[in-house]
Amino acid sequence: MTARRPLREIGQAELAEWLAARRQPAFRAKQIREWLFAKQALTADEMTNLPAGLRAALAEDFAICSVTQAEVVQDGEGTTKWLLELGDGETIEAVLIRAPDRLTVCISTQVGCPVRCSFCASGRHGLVRDLSAGEIVDQVVFANRAAGQRVDNIVVMGMGEPLLNLDALLPALDLICAEEGLGIGARHVTVSTSGIVPGIRRLATAGRQWNLALSLHGVTDAARARLIPPAHRYPLAEILRACREYRETTGRMVTLEYALIAGENDHADDARHLTRIARDLHAKVNLIPCNATGAAHRSSAAEQVRMFHEQLVAAGVQATVRRRKGSDIQAACGQLRARRVNHDRNTQETDE
Ligand code: SF4
Repeated sequence: MTARRPLREIGQAELAEWLAARRQPAFRAKQIREWLFAKQALTADEMTNLPAGLRAALAEDFAICSVTQAEVVQDGEGTTKWLLELGDGETIEAVLIRAPDRLTVCISTQVGCPVRCSFCASGRHGLVRDLSAGEIVDQVVFANRAAGQRVDNIVVMGMGEPLLNLDALLPALDLICAEEGLGIGARHVTVSTSGIVPGIRRLATAGRQWNLALSLHGVTDAARARLIPPAHRYPLAEILRACREYRETTGRMVTLEYALIAGENDHADDARHLTRIARDLHAKVNLIPCNATGAAHRSSAAEQVRMFHEQLVAAGVQATVRRRKGSDIQAACGQLRARRVNHDRNTQETDE
């Protein structure tokens, strides 16, 4: 199945050319971009000040919104998780998280993930493909429209390793943050990485104020090696150097994400190591009780999480325990899609 290009990723010059080829006046470009970014249209039919023929031509050549809902689950506490279908039939996940002070959407950058961390469902089947800039932006538009209000916080922490798809992510974030785009402040965007050193450096040179989150999960190279396969794993010292450079270049604090996995990385010694890393980096720490993914790993017990957290705080580290939202709705990254992929595979095997 081939997909139409997302209209939101088409630049002004290309849109002007497309309109000129159809003998449309130049002012139509401004109207179309208003529909796409200010009014966040999902279909060409919504663009009521355009002639019907032009609306039909747009819908034929482009995807007005390149993601559609395939499945939705809610946890009753304000977390909504979508399985979104792309134009070629592939699926990704996005999660909307409501808090009293903000509305956050967690978006994906790849179908599957090449990093293949052992505790994560997203990477279980490896990388299928990168998302395009428009497919990344359209997740935010979809979330805005589904929520009935605009999200004010973006975390690029869904399926995929964002820094292995920077060619699409950088233009997408520019569209998300631009005043004439979706208008979300750069300081309200957090990009997460498993530690892709060249990507961290490239992100820093973009000169934006995006926040960086490092998914650390292990405090030594040996500990990380047990969780992250070698293909995309960089030496810890290099990763921390790149994070330091990021902070110095952008002035933004780095966050260390640490999924607490029972018996794996939740010992007092790990907390001591983590304290030293956080202090050196002037970083805050987010402790995440690991959502079970059906892999071999289990989340640390609540008491262990409490002790680990207390140890960090007592040592002067700014640390929070992320509330585990949505474990009952399969909110860990990649679980909805994994279920769909497994279902499709089983169906195919049954059909054969
Ligand atoms: S944790 Fe992140 S980097 Fe690791 S496999 Fe999952 S999506 Fe990829």
